[in-house]
Amino acid sequence: MKTYRIASIPGDGIGIEVVAAGLCVLEALVERDGGFRLDVETFDWGSERYKRTGALMPEDGADQLRDFDAIFFGAVGAPDVPDHLTLWGLRLAICQPLDQYANVRPTRILPGIESPLRGVGPGDLDWVIVRENSEGEYAGQGGRSHRGLPGEVATEVSIFTRTGVERIMRHAFTLAQSRPRKLLTVVTKSNAQRYGMVMWDEIAREVSADFPDVTWDKMLVDAMTVRMTLNPSSLDTIVATNLHADILSDLAAALAGSIGIAPTANLNPERRTPSMFEPIHGSAFDITGKGIANPVATFWSASMLLQHIGEPDAARRLMDAIETVTANPDLHTPDLGGTATTDRVTEAVIAAIRGRN
Ligand code: ATP
Ligand code: MG
Repeated sequence: MKTYRIASIPGDGIGIEVVAAGLCVLEALVERDGGFRLDVETFDWGSERYKRTGALMPEDGADQLRDFDAIFFGAVGAPDVPDHLTLWGLRLAICQPLDQYANVRPTRILPGIESPLRGVGPGDLDWVIVRENSEGEYAGQGGRSHRGLPGEVATEVSIFTRTGVERIMRHAFTLAQSRPRKLLTVVTKSNAQRYGMVMWDEIAREVSADFPDVTWDKMLVDAMTVRMTLNPSSLDTIVATNLHADILSDLAAALAGSIGIAPTANLNPERRTPSMFEPIHGSAFDITGKGIANPVATFWSASMLLQHIGEPDAARRLMDAIETVTANPDLHTPDLGGTATTDRVTEAVIAAIRGRN
């Protein structure tokens, strides 16, 4: 029987709660399917490890993950550890060496979920945001001088390479081509940023020549926030830089009902290294330990994981189970205006997987 090796990194806060729920759901799918197994190994990397040892993960952490088929990640971050330390010390310390350069974020209004946009329901908002995940504004380049003096200077340098932009653009066009509407919007800020953003525009035009059946257009990022809000059905696949897509995908998650629903995949599309699947939300210490974290984002991420490793039937079954559960307002967690707990939602999804709903 096919066995996949999965690395589980629950991390911090509600990451630990939602990953535990996600593993229960995956177990139920394996049982139901009967055609494959998951060999899950858990890594206790995160802020607690940082406070104990001074490092969020071992120095060779990324290498320890190389032989897995996929990585299932929760969230990282704690109130008493600076955010940039946790981000660079764990998430980016995995994404960058494993060259997970395409961050793919599907956003859709699930059945039973209400968008804050008036009159917008399921079918009116169905996007996939492709975020460049390896360079751009988060390349980590820059510095500070004259600290504390009136003349202090800080620079934060965006790095865009032709190779980096071309490969994300190609991934976005390929993804757009695989979707029914074959529609791509390339987001930049090329009116104000004359170098990197203009190169993005140029490379988009070049790559588009290889995808004659994809309709594409360009948007400035500021205008894009307006279009997402006022005309969501005009969009389908969206590609943007690391920073722009980070912001746009939080907006997208909110417009689709809650950040507690939104999944993400950090892909190495060529499959040279394992890809990583996680909810887009953070560790959310304000609700940690209360048992009310919405596990749907993590379940959806688990479905993307199954699709990626080559179990599309199980992936579809999980998505169907999620939609059966979201359609019932009694099974909504507080972020969706309901009173259900993480456990209650998890049990309901497992029941739907087993076909007893
Ligand atoms: P980060 O610093 O990584 O962004 P965070 O702790 O700020 O993490 P966010 O993910 O940004 O958390 O979430 C913002 C708020 O949204 C949280 O404080 C929480 O109240 C709510 N939230 C996030 N995820 C969930 C979830 N899965 N279920 C319910 N509420 C959530
Ligand atoms: Mg946040």
